[in-house]
Amino acid sequence: MKKFESVKRAGIFILLVTLTFSCQQNQKGTTNESTDNLFIEITADVQTQAVRDTADAADDPAIWIHPEDASKSLIVGTNKQRGLAVYDLEGTEVYFSPVGKVNNVDVAYNFIYYDSLIDIVGASNRTDNTITIMWLHPDGRLEDLAASNIKSDVEEVYGFCLYLDRSDNSLYAIVNSKTGQVEQWLLNDIHDYEIHGTMVRSFDVGGQTEGCVVDYETGSLYIGQENKGIWKYHVDPEKGAERTLVDDLNNPMLAVDIEGLSIYYASEGKGYLLASSQGNHSYAVYERTGDNKYLGSFRIVDNENGLDGTEETDGIDVINLNMGPSFPNGFFIVQDGFNYENGILVSQNFKMIRWEKIANAFDPP
Ligand code: CA
Ligand code: CA
Ligand code: CA
Ligand code: CA
Ligand code: CA
Repeated sequence: MKKFESVKRAGIFILLVTLTFSCQQNQKGTTNESTDNLFIEITADVQTQAVRDTADAADDPAIWIHPEDASKSLIVGTNKQRGLAVYDLEGTEVYFSPVGKVNNVDVAYNFIYYDSLIDIVGASNRTDNTITIMWLHPDGRLEDLAASNIKSDVEEVYGFCLYLDRSDNSLYAIVNSKTGQVEQWLLNDIHDYEIHGTMVRSFDVGGQTEGCVVDYETGSLYIGQENKGIWKYHVDPEKGAERTLVDDLNNPMLAVDIEGLSIYYASEGKGYLLASSQGNHSYAVYERTGDNKYLGSFRIVDNENGLDGTEETDGIDVINLNMGPSFPNGFFIVQDGFNYENGILVSQNFKMIRWEKIANAFDPP
């Protein structure tokens, strides 16, 4: 790990001198040498194609499950320079929608749209400070359904997550900003084939936010404050700004920024909350229930076949289902900030890890 880090750092310095200098400073300031051997190390299994742009471009992945054949499931990934890419489970891009500078993305299932039940892909779009809402067709095509007036009042839309209350077809989008403002939009007004929205709640987290996820079973709304920790709100807009702190940087295994958040659903209400700890290239695991007890952290390192590990991850996602032969117990997917092909730094991508490798690396599994 150490040796590889230094090789990588040399490459990074040559190619991204200015950007990386600040990152390195940041890393040195926050990575705790004494905790380095406490991270569990796992390797990746599959990677997506690299994104089109060489800059910091890939950001957030969202897994979509095919209703009949899980092996035909898809991954939607943001390229924050230009749009949404759709990949199959082998990582091949099957569709690209040049919808704009989308930062974070999420998926919601079985939204009632006229006579159909459709699956929704939503994203925060920095081109025009709007919420993008699209219909994800099973072949990977994305069809824009958003009325142009879903325009946020936050300074610049950044983090994003969806929640669909199936009891009344209330689709909610939660969007946040670098200034810590959060807005919750209700998107259930459909006319002229477009989805229109109303803002139903806004609050201030108190610092730069991004990562965001809703637990569909408990209604918990988790939001990452990048330089602080993970907050738990409730997705019910009536609950206002009530919150509890799940974890913060007093945990030596976390390092700024706290980025992507995702939920692994297990039976009987169990499961995990996962968080990307960007500053030390790791992923923290918490219990989903109760007070979200911290269970440990892992890193994704180079595998024997040249598939590189993951660094400076933004968004993450995870799925608990059998996704076919490649992923019989589901998988975890992360953005890779420094993607290497044969030792050469190329455009960023997303990497997938079979879930059982993560589960079995912990004691108890
Ligand atoms: Ca990034
Ligand atoms: Ca961020
Ligand atoms: Ca990498
Ligand atoms: Ca990000
Ligand atoms: Ca690679």
